[in-house]
Amino acid sequence: ESDDSSYFMQKPKEKFADVGGMKRVKDEISMKIIQPLKNPDLYKAFGKKIGGGILLYGPPGCGKTFIAKTTAGEIDAKFIAIGLHDILDMWIGNSEKNLHAIFEMARNNKPCVLFFDEVDAIGASRADLKQSAMRHVINQFLSELDGVSSDNEGVLILAATNAPWSVDPAFRRPGRFDRIIFVEPPDEGARAEILNSILKEKPVGEVDIDKIARETNNYSGADLKAVIDMAVEEKLQESMLKGTIQPIQTKDLLKAVKQHRPSTLEW
Ligand code: ATP
Repeated sequence: ESDDSSYFMQKPKEKFADVGGMKRVKDEISMKIIQPLKNPDLYKAFGKKIGGGILLYGPPGCGKTFIAKTTAGEIDAKFIAIGLHDILDMWIGNSEKNLHAIFEMARNNKPCVLFFDEVDAIGASRADLKQSAMRHVINQFLSELDGVSSDNEGVLILAATNAPWSVDPAFRRPGRFDRIIFVEPPDEGARAEILNSILKEKPVGEVDIDKIARETNNYSGADLKAVIDMAVEEKLQESMLKGTIQPIQTKDLLKAVKQHRPSTLEW
């Protein structure tokens, strides 16, 4: 197991049930990549091609990484996450070999979910990498996706971007990222589910979840997590002062909401 901001592998315990909202996203991931892994013969019988990945897009903090992670948790598989911006930085000049190494690591650890964050980084023009060099990286990525050198069965491929218009169109052909899903900011019902999910294992008193959900229009899941973290900080300090656990109350959360601006409006 490695822990690095640009790449890591883990065995997540969280499952779809821990993800608030996103029902459509869960259904699509299930039908497109989980069920084919579990019932390959059924899919073949109906002439459905197995393979290909899903591209998730939408504003930051709305659960793209989290849903990918829980996809792995859902099927008891490993989760390998790659931050492409950082990795391209580390690899300038040597990206092709490294991309191959990543896919090989995934193939050696199946079943697994291989998640590429910031796929728009691939193909984006940059001063320190000549266009022809970037073309090489793109082609290498495509041939790894296509499983040209070895097959990707058991490797579920997901990718995410905040800038879908910048993703090279070649990635979206059949058998590649041929399913594109918008991960939208959570609506009121989804926010209530997210709040419940994050508060589940914390000391809570009387918390009016519906009220907090109503007061957090345009807050992403990550914003809600930040709000709760803020309230937790306060309660921790209070608890230390008083010498007993002070559970989180509605007013603590409302106070934290006032101190945290929603982030999805800027997208
Ligand atoms: P980015 O584009 O910045 O990668 P993202 O869409 O991948 O953003 P995540 O990193 O998945 O967002 O979300 C950040 C954190 O917010 C998660 O680790 C999780 O704790 C919480 N979170 C976000 N969405 C949800 C959700 N739908 N249910 C429960 N928790 C969520």
